[in-house]
Amino acid sequence: MLGWLDSHAHICSKEFDEDLDIVINNIKENNITKVMIICSDLNECEKAFDLAKNDKRFDVAVGLHPIDQKDLTKEDYDRFYMYAKNKYVKAIGEIGLDYHWHNDNKEEQKELFIKQIELAKQLDKPIIVHSRDAMQDTFEILKKYKIKGVLHSYSGSYEMAKEFIKLGYYISIAGPVTFKNARILKEVASKIDLDKLLIETDCPYMTPVPYRGKRNEPMYVKHTGKYICELRNIDEIIFQKQIHNNYETLFNSN
Ligand SMILES: [Zn+2]
Repeated sequence: MLGWLDSHAHICSKEFDEDLDIVINNIKENNITKVMIICSDLNECEKAFDLAKNDKRFDVAVGLHPIDQKDLTKEDYDRFYMYAKNKYVKAIGEIGLDYHWHNDNKEEQKELFIKQIELAKQLDKPIIVHSRDAMQDTFEILKKYKIKGVLHSYSGSYEMAKEFIKLGYYISIAGPVTFKNARILKEVASKIDLDKLLIETDCPYMTPVPYRGKRNEPMYVKHTGKYICELRNIDEIIFQKQIHNNYETLFNSN
């Protein structure tokens, strides 16, 4: 049963339209035992539900991403609420704040974020949080709501990570930890509590070394996992076991 897992993968996005069957085969052959499929585009949901229906290794998350906020219609919201209730949806996400791409609509972003946190609470599902150049505002919002969740593709400081962990959040590390200049992320990955750590690809982006620059896919998560094991000087099997426990505790304990 042991192997690697990917807590954040956009495999139903159009970047995988041409060869999703090969990518899924790679997942199986490389013994990636769990993949959380993130649907940021609502059109990806049906495909993701089909995968989850046929193979227990797949879970699904759906959320309205802050980057797309400006174009959302009433129909989008209705569809989102319908999908969010689906039994294969194990988390609401990714949701959050992104001031890197948009900083002229901060209040609207916060509003959408909070609305989805409230829905997650109602449905008793954890949240998957996207936060880019918005760490302090993200923290202020999460502090107000008691809900389980994970900061995905974490890019903040170690001190900030400790604060999120105090609120009960998990920290998920993606491929950039393997990059040479990622000093702060390496510090986070090597020092935070092991029982609060997750790993992910965030594919198709964020490809770890030695495939940096190529399209990312779930099987590459093992490079991130192995790298963190080296950083922490920990046995791979022990690490895998802990990561699986963390994943199950967060996403499957309801
Ligand atoms: Zn993502």
